[in-house]
Amino acid sequence: MSTILVFVEHKAGAARRASLETLGAAHATGLKVVAFVTGAGAADVAPKLGAAGAAEVVVVTGADSYSPDGCAADAVALIQSSGAKAFLCANTSAGKDLLARVAGALDCVPFADCVELKLQGAAFVVRRPVLAGKATITVQSNSPVLCATLRPNTFAAATAGGSAAVSSVATKGGKVLVTSVAAKADAKLDVKEAPIVVSGGRGLREAPHFKLVEDLAAAFGNAAVGASRAVVDAGWRPHSEQVGQTGKTVSPQLYFAVGISGAIQHLAGMRTSKVIVAINKDAAAPIFKVADFGIVGDAFEVLPVLTEAIKKARS
Ligand SMILES: Cc1cc2nc3c(=O)[nH]c(=O)nc-3n(C[C@H](O)[C@H](O)[C@H](O)COP(=O)(O)OP(=O)(O)OC[C@H]3O[C@@H](n4cnc5c(N)ncnc54)[C@H](O)[C@@H]3O)c2cc1C
Repeated sequence: MSTILVFVEHKAGAARRASLETLGAAHATGLKVVAFVTGAGAADVAPKLGAAGAAEVVVVTGADSYSPDGCAADAVALIQSSGAKAFLCANTSAGKDLLARVAGALDCVPFADCVELKLQGAAFVVRRPVLAGKATITVQSNSPVLCATLRPNTFAAATAGGSAAVSSVATKGGKVLVTSVAAKADAKLDVKEAPIVVSGGRGLREAPHFKLVEDLAAAFGNAAVGASRAVVDAGWRPHSEQVGQTGKTVSPQLYFAVGISGAIQHLAGMRTSKVIVAINKDAAAPIFKVADFGIVGDAFEVLPVLTEAIKKARS
């Protein structure tokens, strides 16, 4: 049976949700799934991955400090030793970096940010956005190894359960080592992984008014705050919250665009959200063309009412 190798990212003893979704997508093909984990705490995460669809898990040892090129070398070695026909990771910063390195080393075409993965006969077929998200293309990989990243919040994590055989292999080592990570003090949800994103734009007029957006996000309890580039450029919000072509691509269950016009570059980062709600006082704003629900109104009046309603519904 053909094998798919999946790179699993983890934090604080748990696999990242985007990686579990990637495992789920690999599992859904019916092929054998081999997961590999690296870095400090990898051995704690490994036994949990059988339940997420892995048949085998390889723990890379000697790599407590992350090395981008070392991890790529480990992935290539595992692909070669397992005869894997596909290499998948989540479309995160680390996943994108790894995709380029692994595809380059194997002389295969990289397919980034895929929103669909299936097998047609023996060939892998993926669907991915092009033209800043205005269209998607379906492409068949004729490379010896499909190298792809999968968009977070798009595939279902496997729930079937099961256990995986865990083995270990020593890292090949790399030339670059990440020696420390300066994490943000707050433990805010990342827009890429949050199931709900509440984004604000220039319509909020000034930075302190983002409190209204934060309040709505807090009312949901599991929402992240996002922003348009206009407000990031203005210094109202950090770049880590920017959604769009030059920010992050998100695909949450529910996306709010508050005071955001809906420029093509913003749509590129959020148009695959499952449900889009636009709040804008201009009924002709382009955001309404992609919205499932629209409120034509003043954000300063709508947001407090909406926040109270969500709080009441959840209490
Ligand atoms: C190469 C390139 C890359 C880019 N990348 C990105 C990107 O990654 N992400 C991104 O977002 N943009 C990006 N942009 C910028 C993009 O083109 C837009 O300029 C930007 O998205 C506009 O932000 P905005 O919608 O917040 O502001 P505006 O376009 O100014 O829209 C503000 C909206 O708020 C509404 N409004 C005003 N007052 C209220 C109120 N009281 N209540 C409700 N609504 C109100 C207005 O009707 C308007 O629709 C990029 C541009 C370029 C050229």
